Formats: sequence, C-alpha cells, structure tokens
Amino acid sequence: SIEFRHVSKIWGQNQVLRDINLTISPGEVVTILGPSGSGKSTLIRLINQLETLSQGEILIDNHPTRHLRGRALRQLRSRIGFVFQQFNLYAHLSALQNITLALRSVHQQSEADASARARALLARVGLAEKADHYPAQLSGGQQQRVAIARALASEPQIILFDEPTSALDPETIGEVLLVMKQLAHSGITMVVVTHEMQFAREIADRVVFIDGGEILESSPPEAFFTRPQHPRAQRFLHKVL
Ligand code: ATP
Ligand code: MG
Repeated sequence: SIEFRHVSKIWGQNQVLRDINLTISPGEVVTILGPSGSGKSTLIRLINQLETLSQGEILIDNHPTRHLRGRALRQLRSRIGFVFQQFNLYAHLSALQNITLALRSVHQQSEADASARARALLARVGLAEKADHYPAQLSGGQQQRVAIARALASEPQIILFDEPTSALDPETIGEVLLVMKQLAHSGITMVVVTHEMQFAREIADRVVFIDGGEILESSPPEAFFTRPQHPRAQRFLHKVL
C-alpha cells in the first residue's frame, strides 16, 4: 500500500501540495487527473523520492520512507517502477540492453539470466522482434513500451506513470494504452497521471482529482465522470471532455 499522511510540498514561496491524505491499496489502479501545474507530477515523484516532501509522511507497506538513505532507499526504489513522459531510454543501448542494464547492476543477475528475462519482458509488451534495435530505430510508442518493460524488470509491486502517452503521435498512443490495460489488475499497484479521459474511465478503480495542490475529489470513475461533486472538477471535465 501507499499512504500519504498530511503531505505538503513547498518550493520557495510556492505551496505545490497541501495536506495530501491518500491511501492506495495493493493492486489498486488509481488515475490522477487535474489541470496543468496542479501538482500531479510532484505527487507521484514523492512516492519514490524523486522529490523530498516538506511536511508529513509517506508510508509504503506501512513503513515510513522519508528518512531512508543509501541501500534502503535503493531497495525501496527497486520495488517501484517509474515510466516518464519522455521515455528516458539510453540512446547508446539496444532495447534489450536498456532492460538488462538494471537487472545486471541492481539485481546482479548473470548475463544469460538477465537477457532471458529481458526477452520475456519485451515479448510481454509485443516487442520480441525489436530486442536489438536502438531507441532511434523505434517509434515513440515502441520506445515507451520498452520503457514499460524496463520498469517491470525488477518485478516492482508498484508502477508509476507520469503522462506516458503525452509525447506520442496519436497513432501510437493506443498501443501503449493497451499494454497498460493488460498490466492493470494483474496484482501490481498502478498510479497513472494521464490526460486520456476514456482510458482513465476504463481502467481506474479510482480517480483522484487534484487542483491547486489539493485533492478535491477521490471517487470511482463512473461517479467522477458522471457526477463530479466539486465545481472545479465539473469545470475541468467540461473543458476536457
Ligand atoms: P503538468 O500537467 O503541466 O505536468 P503537474 O500537475 O504535473 O503539471 P507539477 O509539475 O507537479 O504539476 O508542478 C506543480 C507546481 O510545482 C507548478 O507550479 C510548478 O511550477 C512547481 N514546480 C514543479 N517542479 C518544480 C521545481 N523543481 N522547482 C520549483 N517549482 C517547481
Ligand atoms: Mg506533470
């Protein structure tokens, strides 16, 4: 589980998140929606400590995380996959090598084991044939699928997505969403920041709407999309749907 307790984030004079309380159950699929600048990226980056929080506490599986350093922090991060808007693949490594790198260095697997596991992961995202291609030889959608396979390499319990399809051409968005749909409800906890409303509606167990650094709504997708309670959620949906 992931539990935010009274979490705030302040940058200089700017309070980016205020008093966030949110509990995400194991295996749950949560989508985070909200306008630009509302704090969505900051919220999920706090989970694996890409940012440090200013106040409050985040517990992963009931363990406080804010004081973790060194090995303990690396261990926590290896249990949490992260997929970024800009795939962040290594340009000088093939699809396969982008995945085996993590397995070899963090998990100290033999080359043969890492390579077998990486091939299985590439097959899972429909890219068995592209193992030896370099990122520049892959479409955006294919690169993002490699990034998802890489995030899954350490068998994380949690996977975080920050606008995984926002940098893609319209024709490749679908293939990435499909891979994510296949992943959802497979046991892994998924937290997805997205602007794909139809997708959020289809896969989410719960929609969290954030504006001005505050959670204004946290409801099942049907309720959120058909009967949003907060006026700002109503306005947001009116604009994006
Ligand atoms: P978008 O939909 O555009 O990605 P977002 O909801 O992800 O927006 P965040 O990136 O979390 O929003 O940013 C929330 C606020 O925090 C913004 O006002 C932003 O300017 C500020 N912010 C983000 N990162 C930093 C930083 N490194 N230093 C200072 N302020 C920051
Ligand atoms: Mg963002």
